Parts: sequence; structure tokens; C-alpha cells
Amino acid sequence: MSTVKDAIAQAVEGMGDELDALSRRIHDHPELGYQEVQACAWLSEFLTHKGFKVETGVGGVATAFRATIGSGAGPTIAILCEYDALPVIGHACGHNVIATAGAGAGAALAAVQAELPAGRIQVIGTPAEERGGGKVELIKGGVFQHVDCAMMIHGFDRTILHQDLLGIVSVTFEYTGKAAHASVDPWVGVNALDACIQTFNAISMLRQQMRPECRIHGIITNGGAAPNIIPEYAASTFLVRAPRIDTMWELHRRVVACAEGAAKAAGVRLKMSQPENVYEPLRRSRVMLDLFAANMKTTGLVEDPPIPDRLGSSDVGNVSQVIPAIQPMIAIAPTGTAIHTREFAEAAVKPLARAGMLAAAKTMALTTFDLLAEPHRVEAAKKEFAQRAS
Ligand SMILES: [Zn+2]
Ligand SMILES: [Zn+2]
Repeated sequence: MSTVKDAIAQAVEGMGDELDALSRRIHDHPELGYQEVQACAWLSEFLTHKGFKVETGVGGVATAFRATIGSGAGPTIAILCEYDALPVIGHACGHNVIATAGAGAGAALAAVQAELPAGRIQVIGTPAEERGGGKVELIKGGVFQHVDCAMMIHGFDRTILHQDLLGIVSVTFEYTGKAAHASVDPWVGVNALDACIQTFNAISMLRQQMRPECRIHGIITNGGAAPNIIPEYAASTFLVRAPRIDTMWELHRRVVACAEGAAKAAGVRLKMSQPENVYEPLRRSRVMLDLFAANMKTTGLVEDPPIPDRLGSSDVGNVSQVIPAIQPMIAIAPTGTAIHTREFAEAAVKPLARAGMLAAAKTMALTTFDLLAEPHRVEAAKKEFAQRAS
């Protein structure tokens, strides 16, 4: 390890208490997507203090930020932070750890700024991962236009270099029928809830013909006003996921057909929402993953066996479709602790989470350093990106 790389790792270690405190502060004040005002302010303040030039509201997103150090020459490497929480269960996805690992990696590089090769480092704050697709807005807003490579980590119950992410599209169905007294004149009513339930039944049958790596899951958001009224209005929202964008849209088409058939059967009017921001699958960057894996060996992170059937989605997938990007999963909770649970929220501020966060910060900082020091690796990542379809 070069002496600069030693200094980077030591810088992360030296900021351990500070980063842990920041992680706890974000964890203890959970904010939903696009409302992460405090987390955005705390992270911006931290990075400004460490020598970054920080811009907030980038890409037209109020709670996004971009912190930059370095010169205009050489590649631009981005380290991504997320800091939104979930409704009711708070930081059960551990985004407080993502945020502080990213900010810590940036701060460690800033600590050795005089010895950094040419190029720019950007720590980018990306809001609303859980819902709303903040990164999709930032892509549209041009935030990644001049970035060559991007990386982030996600907390998990084990360490996995690359975990596939499914493409995901959301669809909302609204059914409108006709109200009637459910006992006196039921034959006068047109039952919107029947269409809603029939949609679920048709989709349950569709699931049997679906590839196992695809997912369809939904809830009824409105099931009528009272049991003695034939429901004149009902609504449901589904999420449709698949490992490829084309198969995701094909599955979406079949889900829509289920709702259309159900609406026809019940004689109700169907209104469908336009899809919100679609989350795309995660493309691999072998070049970046290899570099990250090599640095893991020096930071104490040990890769666990892959678990190909536990599949989620994230808007970092969209970033990976426009530039080389990676999202290794880092153990921050005991094995078997699933994300989006109250147990994971509790684990996200325990000593294991601190250790995972610091090791991840080091690994990202060292990987960023390598990309700046050996720009041919950036070129190799871009070449691989241009050649591989997925
Ligand atoms: Zn999540
Ligand atoms: Zn998450």
C-alpha cells in the first residue's frame, strides 16, 4: 500500500467518532424522500468543514447536494450518499450508514488533497431512493453529465460485491362504479371493489406463468366507504419488477391487461396512472468491482457467498445505465437481519454498523484514489460500459 493510501485509511479511522455521531444524528431524525432537509444540511456542513465546495439544490432537487474537490483536469469520480428514511420504521434501510460512509470517504480524500492525482472528487447527495427516484431527477438535471464513474455502498446483513437489482415500475388503478344500498338495492350498484379484487385474482394467476426472478406486489389503497354501500370507488397500487427493462414493460402490459379484464367483468370505469420514475436494473462494472474487491482486502471487508434470489431495486440502477457505477452491499447487521425491518433500523447504529461504515468509507476512498491515480482504469470502465449490454 502506498503511503498516501495508508494516510487515507488513517484519516477515516481518525474521523470514526465524528462519522458515527453524524450517522446517529441522521438515524435519530428520520426524514422521508424529498424532505431530507436536516440530513442534507448536516452532510453539507460536514463536507464544507472538510474542505469541499458544496452546492445544494443541484439538479433542481432541493435536498440534493454536490460537494467537490480537485482540479478540472483528469477524471471525475463520484461517491453517492442516500439519506432518506422509510415511513413508520425510520432508518430501516440504513441510509444513515450510506450517507456517512460516502461523506467519510470524501473527507478522507480531502485530508490528503495535496497528494491527490489530477481529477475531481464529488460527493453527491441523492435524495428519495425509497420512493420518488431522486437519482432519476439528478440524471435528468445533468448532475451526472460530467461524472466518469460513480460508487456507493448499501448496508446489508452480509457483504456482497455485486447484488443484482430489478427494474421496477409502479402502476395505480382506480375503479369507478355506482353506489347503491348493499341490501335494499344491490342490483342497482356497480361494484368498484369487485373489479379491484378481481385484478388481484388475475395477477395471482399470472404469477404462475411468470419467471421466478420477477416480482409483482400490490395493496388496495381504497376499498370502499362502508359495508352497507356498494363501493362506487376503489383503488390499488402495484409494483412490477423484472431483471431487464424490456421484460419489466412486458410484465407491466400483462398486469394492465388483468386490471382491464377485471374492470370489464365488473362493468366499472378504469383509470390508470402514468408510471412515475422507473427504477432500472443495476449493470455491472467489472473494472470497478475488481478494484473495489482489491481494496476490500486491505480494509477488513470479507465477501460472503452470493444470494441471487433476494432481489430488490434502487435508482442507483439508473445511474449504472448512464455511467459505470457500483453498489457493493456491506455487512452492518448480524446475518439474518433483513432490511426494511425494525431490527435492521436498530442495528444501523450498533458497533457492527460503525465498523461496516468505516470499512466501506475506506474502501470507497481507496478505490476513488486508484481511479484518479490510474486513469487508464477509468477508460477501461468506460470501454466495458460501452461494450456490454448488461
Ligand atoms: Zn430500502
Ligand atoms: Zn436502501
